[in-house]
Amino acid sequence: MKALVLEKKRVLNLREIDLPTDIGDDDVKIKIHTVGICGSDIHYYEHGKIGQWHVKTPIVLGHEGSGTIIEVGKNEKKLKVGDKVCVEPQIVNKKSKEYKLGMYNYDQEVKFWATPPIHGCITPEVIFPGDMVFKLPENISYAEGAMVEPLAVGMQGVTKAKIKPGQIGLVMGCGPIGLVTALAALAGGCAQVYIADILSDKLKICHHYSGLIPVDLTKEDLSSKIMKDTNGWGIDRFFECSGATKAYEAIFSCCSPGAHVVIIGMNAIPVPMDWSILCAKGLEFQTVHRYSHQYEPSIKLLEMGKINVKPMITHTFDFKDSVEAFERAAEHRPTDVKLQILVNDEK
Ligand SMILES: [Zn+2]
Repeated sequence: MKALVLEKKRVLNLREIDLPTDIGDDDVKIKIHTVGICGSDIHYYEHGKIGQWHVKTPIVLGHEGSGTIIEVGKNEKKLKVGDKVCVEPQIVNKKSKEYKLGMYNYDQEVKFWATPPIHGCITPEVIFPGDMVFKLPENISYAEGAMVEPLAVGMQGVTKAKIKPGQIGLVMGCGPIGLVTALAALAGGCAQVYIADILSDKLKICHHYSGLIPVDLTKEDLSSKIMKDTNGWGIDRFFECSGATKAYEAIFSCCSPGAHVVIIGMNAIPVPMDWSILCAKGLEFQTVHRYSHQYEPSIKLLEMGKINVKPMITHTFDFKDSVEAFERAAEHRPTDVKLQILVNDEK
């Protein structure tokens, strides 16, 4: 089958590759419609690795996929041919202790799309276990369906933050993950969410959303602004989504006593922290690695209009232009929020 294949660092081809075509009893076959390009896809393309995962053999990229069911295995009861769906791109081992404890995302054996050596979904057809495939409501487009994957990351962070209604949030980093986290925090009860970045062009998207307060870190002093706005108290929920070491400084200067801090962005280098100061403030820390059980609530929030991801989809490329799409993504233009590939525009 034709697919977008990362041969090795910086070498991408749209070419034929052997992929499974027979479906198992618990599987469904999906005609892929739209796939979003994730930061991790771009990272594998540019660097050939992320942390412990190295591209050693050719791999199909893409894990943010939506499409239409074209075949169902005989054990699959909830999905049927013709359903519009999105895919939670991890194949879980139901016998693992992590799975039984409801945190399958920490199982080292999870097979996650486009994480070496597991192939992803920038290809016309895929086979996947039916229990990780979710039906999309009528009013959700395929493009929005492909946004459920990144949204699930923000939802995981917000779930861990245990937000109370009316609280004030702060998100560091206005990339796609920062944005979905901020939107999930608003949907989850935050009255306002500050979102801070050093690139003013990235912050322009905030004008689409009431409740989001953009802070250009090159022009404004973040902690002075927050302390002034909150009468010296600080924010209640802090989300690190930038991966930048400097962003961690805001934990010290912007958090209120007892604030919850959630680390979502992956720091490129180890970040030293003065824990005694954080302990004295009673801050609570949580971390996020992917997500578990977030697809259904994410889809429901999109369906009910509580979260709108449409302004984030800034450019769509045809499947035949997939390589060009990645070259564009690797330019890291600040006004490109989410680039998507239209693999097949029939239903
Ligand atoms: Zn992703």
